[in-house]
Amino acid sequence: MAQRQFQTEVSQLLHLIIHSLYSNREIFLRELVSNASDALDKLKYLTVANDAYKELAFEPRIDLSFNSEEKTLTIADNGIGMNEADLVSSLGTIARSGTKAFLEQLGSDAKKDNNLIGQFGVGFYAAFMVAETIEVISRKALEESAWKWTSDGKEGFEIESAARETQGTTVILHLNEEGLEFANRWRIENIIKQYSNHVAFAIFLTYEDKEYDDKGTVTGAKQKTERINDGTALWRKSKSELKQEDYNEFYKQIGHETDDPLFYVHTRAEGSLEYTTLFYVPKKAPFDMYNADYKSGVKLYVKRIFITDDDRELLPVYLRFVRGIIDSEDLPLNVSREILQQNKILSNIRTASVKKLLAEFKNIAENDTAKWDEFISQYNRPLKEGLYSDWGNSEALSDLVRFKSTKVEGRVSFAGYVSRMSSDQKYIYYITGGDEKTLKASPLLEAYKAKNIEVLVMDEEIDEIVIPRLFHYRKVTGVDKDGKETSQQWELKPVNRVGADEELGTKENKDAEKEAKPLIDKIKNALGDRVKEVKLSRRLHDSPSCIVADENDPTLQMAQMLKTMGQTDNIPEIKPILEVNGEHALLKALAGTDDAARIEDTAHVLLDQALLVEGVKLTDPADFVKRLNRLLAL
Ligand code: ADP
Repeated sequence: MAQRQFQTEVSQLLHLIIHSLYSNREIFLRELVSNASDALDKLKYLTVANDAYKELAFEPRIDLSFNSEEKTLTIADNGIGMNEADLVSSLGTIARSGTKAFLEQLGSDAKKDNNLIGQFGVGFYAAFMVAETIEVISRKALEESAWKWTSDGKEGFEIESAARETQGTTVILHLNEEGLEFANRWRIENIIKQYSNHVAFAIFLTYEDKEYDDKGTVTGAKQKTERINDGTALWRKSKSELKQEDYNEFYKQIGHETDDPLFYVHTRAEGSLEYTTLFYVPKKAPFDMYNADYKSGVKLYVKRIFITDDDRELLPVYLRFVRGIIDSEDLPLNVSREILQQNKILSNIRTASVKKLLAEFKNIAENDTAKWDEFISQYNRPLKEGLYSDWGNSEALSDLVRFKSTKVEGRVSFAGYVSRMSSDQKYIYYITGGDEKTLKASPLLEAYKAKNIEVLVMDEEIDEIVIPRLFHYRKVTGVDKDGKETSQQWELKPVNRVGADEELGTKENKDAEKEAKPLIDKIKNALGDRVKEVKLSRRLHDSPSCIVADENDPTLQMAQMLKTMGQTDNIPEIKPILEVNGEHALLKALAGTDDAARIEDTAHVLLDQALLVEGVKLTDPADFVKRLNRLLAL
């Protein structure tokens, strides 16, 4: 019997679990019961969907038992089971994507680790908090042979051939010192009631019921087996029957979570379509939210029978942080995954679910500031993705997304922005293309500051992709006397475009432009094809120069971002427009000189410094420094 090694990540995770979750050891039982319940779900599905399994005698159940003399605690199910290969891959590796990256984030700070581990879910390995060795005896449904997996949770595990009467899995924990308290009838019952009461299968506990004589001495014992959980699918109960704790317990159970959820939305639809949905939003964004192969958090059931937890189409991608279940009365039980993709019923449920979730987000935004702040700190970015991908809901989403601002601390909404606007302001102004600090220092904002106009500071990369496509913000203002919705609409205007100064209402000054023409030509000549155009600026106050993008060009920052994302193919070389401030001393001095070398150096420095303040990397920084030094020496 050869010893097999755990994957490195498993060893790391084990170490972590043992050192950061010890204050909450009892959750190991929830994790094991939850695995048993998943295994029962999977087999139940096969018995209705697949002919090969139809003959199987199958009364799904979970059995718990313990022996305090032998220091064991046993959790058995008659679910799908595992064969040798399954045991190796399931209980020797962590298949979930992003595990490595996740583990790298963890340090020695147990409190932080505790939080992170809540986003990750600890699973089976949690049992090593209470056990010095674990045996898993399993037989896969429709297979003859059974296997035994044994490990002390240190370096690795062993697998050997074993015997088991029916399909399913038996997990035997050989309890350590800390685990002994769990070999106790009341303790087990309490934990199950607290964490696993709403598992949809019956959980039984077998214990010794001792008999006593009049004097209180034990005269014998009978084995008793009792059902200890409620066992009805929680989401089928009416809201009035359920308490916050019931919802929280169920969330931890289905999602393998350790934290409570931030909030939940429980809906029963009756009528042309009958279904129940129960959605949860986690307090912390799931650790794999930004991985291409994130795991879906929504399970599909048909008439209480689990169908799949692996379908990312159940909700749109941008809502991938949502956990929960969809249970349909109308879908056929043997629905295949392929059919699911184009199923009309499911797509209707999906549309209604998205509306429901967005309405709940809005409700929280309007009525619960503390909760909303927590929510938006985690999910602003996916909502912005939705603005891009879910056109049908873009109005609802545009009321949810938040931005920084030149006027207000924290995050502001479009609605808040327009409420602060003066009556003669026509547009919503925004700046993109860098971090908050760079953007707030941009010379492009000078004219807006001077006019006391608020500008939205869009410092997230995604803003630059999403906001230009939005074009306008529409706000519903009420209903007219015919009951029709009334609304007002504002165009969104980027400040880093040519022409933005016109929108600001700064008058053109023909005389000034005529007068500056020779200076502008000088600069243009010196810069050659580094720029698309050089213009006299109407928006600068303190800075000598700034760059803007032409009407239909991407900004330089955007081009830079696409490059870092590896998309170099279809970006044409973009040249900025340089605007110069004719009132600035530097430009005045330049106008009065004929020194060709000095003109050339100044022109390049004007361009390079404008690029630098906007956070654009210089292609030739050495050249910039050389020119700057020559000018300083003058
Ligand atoms: P998770 O449940 O989050 O996937 P675990 O570490 O708890 O992670 O379990 C790993 C895998 O082991 C499960 O995904 C499942 O495939 C398998 N497994 C665990 N317990 C059982 C069980 N009782 N019956 C069948 N398979 C199981």
